[in-house]
Amino acid sequence: MDLGPYLAFDGVNYICTICERTFSSETALYAHCRSTSRHSWCERCSRVFISLQARNSHLQGSKKHYICPKCPHVQDFKAFQELQDHLVESHYFCPDCKLYYSSFDKLQEHDIARHHLCITCGDYFANKNNLQMHQQKHQPRTMECYGCYRCFKTISGVLIHLESGSCVSEVTEEELDDIARECYQSGKYIYTGFEGGEWLYRCPSCDYTFAKLSALYQHAEDVLLCSSLLSGDGCLAKLARFIARSLQ
Ligand SMILES: [Zn+2]
Ligand SMILES: [Zn+2]
Ligand SMILES: [Zn+2]
Ligand SMILES: [Zn+2]
Ligand SMILES: [Zn+2]
Ligand SMILES: [Zn+2]
Ligand SMILES: [Zn+2]
Repeated sequence: MDLGPYLAFDGVNYICTICERTFSSETALYAHCRSTSRHSWCERCSRVFISLQARNSHLQGSKKHYICPKCPHVQDFKAFQELQDHLVESHYFCPDCKLYYSSFDKLQEHDIARHHLCITCGDYFANKNNLQMHQQKHQPRTMECYGCYRCFKTISGVLIHLESGSCVSEVTEEELDDIARECYQSGKYIYTGFEGGEWLYRCPSCDYTFAKLSALYQHAEDVLLCSSLLSGDGCLAKLARFIARSLQ
């Protein structure tokens, strides 16, 4: 057992060499160390220091102690991560940029601008586009089904619902495929290669192919480069209006 430089055990008694006092047990020795004003004590390391200054320099230098550099009173953490969490929460610190902010709002502004933080769910994204794509998830469900009154967040959500056959309009995936082929825009998104006898949907802007219409829409919703197909004069916007008319 290592008692450090100022405490000793002679085989029978525990000794505080600073005060030259003996104790019958380790517990009694430590109780003395905690209560005395003649020397200083580090509870976590069970170690005596000759003075408060000696103890404080131990706190600063030891791997067992993580001291907050900002708090006016010594705030000691057991692990680096705990200190870092404290710095973020209490001192508005950005660990990536090693910068302190004056308020929570200022730190959050920085997190949004620099680190593409979604404040709705607290996730971070690699770039602004990814954040914008992600934030569509948080949008309210506003797409009403073409065949019933259920609402979905996206067109692909409506199409998955229709393809699954769970809509009260009793539309089937085959009927939906027929409607898609009938639409005058079909030349743009129907793949005519007929691989293995299966016909497929194709994204006209990137040439990816899909077995289901909902997958094509999901792709256009997720991939920024292909998302224009869904708005205004885009063929998928026109097809969506055509499906709506066909099912009403
Ligand atoms: Zn002592
Ligand atoms: Zn210590
Ligand atoms: Zn602090
Ligand atoms: Zn930062
Ligand atoms: Zn989010
Ligand atoms: Zn429906
Ligand atoms: Zn595409």
